[in-house]
Amino acid sequence: MNEHDSEKVAGVLLARGYRQVEFAEQANVVLYNTCSIREKAAQKVFSRLGEYRLTQRDGQTIGVLGCVAQQEGQKIFTRAPWVSLVCGSASYRKLPELLAQLEAGNRRVTGLDTDTDETFETEVTRRDNPWRAYLTIIEGCDKACSYCVVPFTRGPERSRTSASILEEVRQLAGVGYTEVQLLGQTVNSYADPSAKKMRFSELLVAVAELPGIRRVRFTTSHPRDFGKDIVEAIEAVPAICEHVHLPVQSGSTKVLRGMARTYTREEYLEKIAMLRASKREISLTTDLIVGFPGETEKDFEETLSLLDVAQYDGAFCFKYSPRPNTPSLKMEDAIPEEEKSRRLAMLLEKQREIQRARNEKLVGRELEVMVEGKSKKEFQWSGHTSGNKVMNFTSRAQESLGDYVQVKVVAATPNSLVGEKRQWRVTSGE
Ligand code: SF4
Repeated sequence: MNEHDSEKVAGVLLARGYRQVEFAEQANVVLYNTCSIREKAAQKVFSRLGEYRLTQRDGQTIGVLGCVAQQEGQKIFTRAPWVSLVCGSASYRKLPELLAQLEAGNRRVTGLDTDTDETFETEVTRRDNPWRAYLTIIEGCDKACSYCVVPFTRGPERSRTSASILEEVRQLAGVGYTEVQLLGQTVNSYADPSAKKMRFSELLVAVAELPGIRRVRFTTSHPRDFGKDIVEAIEAVPAICEHVHLPVQSGSTKVLRGMARTYTREEYLEKIAMLRASKREISLTTDLIVGFPGETEKDFEETLSLLDVAQYDGAFCFKYSPRPNTPSLKMEDAIPEEEKSRRLAMLLEKQREIQRARNEKLVGRELEVMVEGKSKKEFQWSGHTSGNKVMNFTSRAQESLGDYVQVKVVAATPNSLVGEKRQWRVTSGE
C-alpha cells in the first residue's frame, strides 16, 4: 500500500513538471515515505532523516510522508529541523498545494488531517512494474483493532467509485498491464459510494472481465467481511487469482477479544472451511502476532493448533510491539521479549513445515506462471503462480518478461516451487 502511495505521489509530482532522479543527493525535493506499523520501522525514520541531513544541499527540500509523518506531526520539525514538509497519507490530495506553498517560499508546511471522506485519486501514477499494477480501491480503516495505528494514521474507510476503478483498469489494460492488484487495508469492506452500489465480489468480477486483464489479486481481506460471494466469484472467474490473504492474528478467542478483532476462533475457522471447500484450490495466507498482552501459554498453543487446522500456504508472523495512539498501549505489555522470541521461533518453525508439505503436494502439477525475472544462471527464470507461489523454473526458450507460461513443478521448498517449462519438441514421425 505504501509502495503504491509512493507511485501516486510520484505521479502527482511528474504531472506538475518535476522529474525523477536516481539518488536523493541529486534531488531538489526529497519525499521520504514512512511506515509505523512496527516499532523498528518507525525508529529507522529518524536515523534515515539524519543521513539525509548529511548530504542535504543548499535549497534542498526534505519532506516526510506516510504514517510516521501522521503520528509524529509537528514534532518532526523539532527533532529534525532540516525537514520542511510533513504530510500523512489521508492528506495526500493536498500535496500539490503544499508543494506550491514551499515553492512560494514557505519554510514549513503540514498536511495532517485525517478527518476526510475523500480518496487520493491521481491523474498520473508512476508505476514501476510494467505488467502488474497496484490500485487502491479503499483507503483508511474503521475496524479499530486495539494494537493497530492504521485507523489513526490513515483515517476512516472511504472507497473509490466502481466507475473510477473500472476506468483506471481499462486504461491500464490499454497500455499492456495484464495483472491488477486491488488494495485496501480492508479491501473486502469496499463500499461503492456511487448509485451502482457494486459489492466487492461484483467489482472483482467486473475488473476480471475487462479485456486484456488476465489476473486480479486483492489484499488485505478482513475476516468479518469475508463472505461466500467472494469465494463464488473466484470459482466463477478464472482471472480472479486463487489466493486469499486472511489475517487471523491469534488462534485464541480470548486474545482476539483483547485485540478487538470482532470474530472468534470458531467464526474464523468457518471462513477457512468455506475457502477450503471451494471448487478451486485456493491458496491461503495470514498474519499472526505473538506475545499480545495477556497471551498465556495456553492461548499461544491455540494459535499453534489453528495452524494445523488452517494449513496456510504462507504466514507473516510478528512479535507484538506497543504502538503510539493505540488502545493496547494501556494494556500491560507483560510478556518478556525472550518469551515473545521463543513463541515466534516456534510459530515460524511449525509454519515452515506446513508450507513444505503443502508445496510438496504440488510436485507433478502444471501451473501457469507469469514470467517476472531472469536469473543470472542460464535458462533460469522466476515468477508467481495464480496462488501467489514463487516459482523458479528452467526454460531453454528466450522467455519474455510479463508473459504467461505453463510450468511443471518438479520440486518444492517451504518458500518456493521449482519447475520446468514444458518443452515442445517436434521430431519426425511425431
Ligand atoms: S483491520 Fe487491519 S488496518 Fe484495520 S485496524 Fe485492524 S489491523 Fe489495523
